[in-house]
Amino acid sequence: MGDTARNPVTWLGSPAFPTAAKTALADDQLRRNLKHATGLIRTKRAGAVAELPDWEQLRLSGEAIKDDVLANLDTYLLRFEESVAARGGTVHWARDAAEANEIVLRLAREAGADEVVKIKSMATMEIGLNEALQAGGVTPIETDLAELIVQLGNDRPSHILVPAIHRNRTEIRDIFKAAMPGTEDLTDEPVELAAAARAFLRRKFLSAKVAVSGANFGVAETGSVVVVESEGNGRMCLTLPETLITVMGIEKLVPTWQDLEVFLQLLPRSSTAERMNPYTSVWTGVTPGDGPRDFHLVLVDNGRTDTLASTVGRQALRCIRCSACLNVCPVYERTGGQAYGSVYPGPIGAILAPQLGGDMHDKHAASLPFASSLCGACFEVCPVRIDIPSVLVHLRAKAVEAKPKYSPEAIGMAAMSWVMAGPRRFRAAQRLAVAGRLLSRGGRIRGLPFPGSKWTDSRDLPAPAKESFSAWWKRTRG
Ligand code: SF4
Repeated sequence: MGDTARNPVTWLGSPAFPTAAKTALADDQLRRNLKHATGLIRTKRAGAVAELPDWEQLRLSGEAIKDDVLANLDTYLLRFEESVAARGGTVHWARDAAEANEIVLRLAREAGADEVVKIKSMATMEIGLNEALQAGGVTPIETDLAELIVQLGNDRPSHILVPAIHRNRTEIRDIFKAAMPGTEDLTDEPVELAAAARAFLRRKFLSAKVAVSGANFGVAETGSVVVVESEGNGRMCLTLPETLITVMGIEKLVPTWQDLEVFLQLLPRSSTAERMNPYTSVWTGVTPGDGPRDFHLVLVDNGRTDTLASTVGRQALRCIRCSACLNVCPVYERTGGQAYGSVYPGPIGAILAPQLGGDMHDKHAASLPFASSLCGACFEVCPVRIDIPSVLVHLRAKAVEAKPKYSPEAIGMAAMSWVMAGPRRFRAAQRLAVAGRLLSRGGRIRGLPFPGSKWTDSRDLPAPAKESFSAWWKRTRG
């Protein structure tokens, strides 16, 4: 697909990750909420995965299937389009966010809707569909419980699977009380909170003419679309309204039903630590007398074709949005998702958002690949074996290349290279480093003068050894 003005994927005006992380780290409540939630889900996932003796084989299959799809994406997309059309659906192609939003808004208006119900869709969040619908006079109502909490709280999502993971139940009660009429006496008991949301949403489901959904998978051989979810609200969205509009990234395909079977094992255990999803909805075009009468599928590129062109970076398109990498990431656990300033937070966000956005000159996007300790925990849990650390390193190189030639970092690196290129200069630098012990307290250096302060602002340094290795070698071995 050609390149047009692309949605930046990251939220407009977001500060670079280090700045946003500092704010998040200062929020004790947020850190408590995250520690509790990620710790819980991490342990559960490990247990669910350990039940399967062929887990590693499943991961290898998932990787191979997705790689085949990416290598032959044009063929599978055309097959998928043909199959959807043959079963009475209409396929629309969108090069970028603006085109996708325009298509959905037009379809909603044509169906006579001034309100649409939505089931959780990362793709629609990526393209900013809610804002576009609202600007066009159509009100979107999120029906996934966590999405609803985010929407009613005028908030932003912070997790792929549990977008309101940063909220505890007392905060949720306050959001509901402020936004839902008749909830003045609501307590923060989970049962009561769920009942309030259910009553609110039922009215919306029964009156909506149009639903907008995402898609977890599209099966190329039959044109079937698959949504997996835990609450059943998705099922209501997908079956009750007369018109269904599905917005799907072009990489979400699997070739056959047999391939789908692999992912329906990998996804639930990796995401919610369940053996299978409580609700797996599958539909193929339209079926007279059953479900929506009109089905539209909007296939969105928005930077995916360009991402596919990168031999290292394209593996990010294997992602099935299970969020396992978020739950094991030590950086995510401390900062939460909003610090990433993107609908895709955590390790996968750090490699996906900059690639979909495609602009490493953007300070915020360029800061994301550095939001990692490169510990590798994300790769170990990823059900489709995305080597996130390698992609992070690759993108870090791109971010450095995009920097101006005379940035402080470039000057610092040039100076280091000059020092290391001459043995006498290097020895002099070693002597200077040993003298740096004067700045240390208790074996650590906690503050350096500028430009070293850029480092010690957020971390300390071990004090240099009393003697360099070469000096020790000379002294002891002659
Ligand atoms: S990168 Fe892997 S672990 Fe992370 S969300 Fe995607 S599929 Fe899950």
